[in-house]
Amino acid sequence: MTLKLYDTLTREKRLFVPTDPDRVTMYVCGPTVYGFAHIGNARPVVAFDVLFRLLRHLYGEKHVVYARNVTDVDDKINQKAADEGVEIGVITERYMAAYLEDMDALGALRPTHQPRATDYIQAMVDDIAGLIARGGAYEAEGHVLFDTQSARDYGMLSGRSLDDMIAGARVEVAPYKRHPADFVLWKPSKPHEPRWPSPWGDGRPGWHSECSTMIERVLGLPIDIHGGGIDLVFPHHENELAQARCAHDGAEFARYWMHNGFLDMAGEKMSKSLGNVIIPHELLQKVPGEVLRWALLSAHYRQPLEWTESLLDQSRKALDRIYGALQDAARVVGDGVVSPHPGRLVAPVLEALSDDINTPLALSGLFRLSDELRETIAGGDRDAIASAMHDLTSAGALLGLLQTPPAVWFQGGAGDDLKSQVEALLVQRAQARAGKDWPTADRIRGELDALGVVVMDGPQGATWRIKEA
Ligand code: AMP
Ligand code: ZN
Repeated sequence: MTLKLYDTLTREKRLFVPTDPDRVTMYVCGPTVYGFAHIGNARPVVAFDVLFRLLRHLYGEKHVVYARNVTDVDDKINQKAADEGVEIGVITERYMAAYLEDMDALGALRPTHQPRATDYIQAMVDDIAGLIARGGAYEAEGHVLFDTQSARDYGMLSGRSLDDMIAGARVEVAPYKRHPADFVLWKPSKPHEPRWPSPWGDGRPGWHSECSTMIERVLGLPIDIHGGGIDLVFPHHENELAQARCAHDGAEFARYWMHNGFLDMAGEKMSKSLGNVIIPHELLQKVPGEVLRWALLSAHYRQPLEWTESLLDQSRKALDRIYGALQDAARVVGDGVVSPHPGRLVAPVLEALSDDINTPLALSGLFRLSDELRETIAGGDRDAIASAMHDLTSAGALLGLLQTPPAVWFQGGAGDDLKSQVEALLVQRAQARAGKDWPTADRIRGELDALGVVVMDGPQGATWRIKEA
């Protein structure tokens, strides 16, 4: 199976060939930890999680190294700590923990490495000093700036010229800059701000330096895949690339650059600054993470995705339909059944993902497998059912979906009290039925109905689910 990925740098879909198939490397820019992630921030996490799973499937789990950084030094963090009157570490620890909790709930595997910027400050200082020595950066008023005019190919990733950048006013003009597009590698800290010693005075690194240093130290150059949201192409990734090329005589930095499109609401990018954010941390109280994950994967990662209530409804219904087939199958052959044909390939889903991570097509592949499962259930051949069930759940695993036992899926949202009440009533009902006491059995069914529960009888006994609203 060949994998094709769209590369932002060459602007084409290309065959994916890693530098070393025994060590495939991927880096995705991670969060700045000063608040809860919004669902737009979760889009790159989930999209690149699917790529991570696919690479592990293709190259072997031990042969894929995925790093996602944590930016734990930033003006917004300082501001948040000052607002709350707490230490910076309180803020970063709180939101890093919340981030991981939320991304776990969305079914994202933890990356192999999660380097924190503050653990790499000395390495950043060394790298910045190296850039100055090579004539690619200069010191001015306690700042160190990257000299964009010294970088012949500056703009190669985003396709902008230096003139475009000034005209588009995407760069900050400052008196100490030689050119308005020059960007900060190191800056002085104000009193009360975190600071580290450097040859240019106490201060802290700029954001772009963090990633280029950590990529090199954690993964080694060149990396195979560099990912993030489309808004990172310029200036963040352009600047990471410029630094790496300056430091290594123009050598390759990342072999494939991948960028996800925006998640929008009412046609506008979801962003903290616009204030139109939906926070998984809150949404997850009402909606299972798997529903959010399905919704995030329902559009191709490079396309915009409009976030609506009806998207959530459709995603839940889609999962209900497929889990329904799995539950019917489990009623015949039992949960956790082992396929008589293990290792059979998850063809439609694998093919779709291998074509630049086409998740909408992969999700329709799950529907196809679920329809096939329904047909085998109708046919009644237990081996065929077990095998079709296995195909569906292993295809789901590639997407990080369908790994919940169907009974648990349908009982999602039921509190422990309700669960024990229902289980007790089901035992009484089974006893009544065994004793042919039909009036009691019927009365208990009525009680279950009143609790908002549907009972489904099968050869393995009765199972139940929460009634749909
Ligand atoms: P930030 O915290 O803004 O640096 O964003 C973290 C990650 O989320 C980056 O990869 C961004 O490109 C991505 N991102 C932020 N907002 C959105 C959005 N509305 N849709 C998709 N990706 C986003
Ligand atoms: Zn980055």
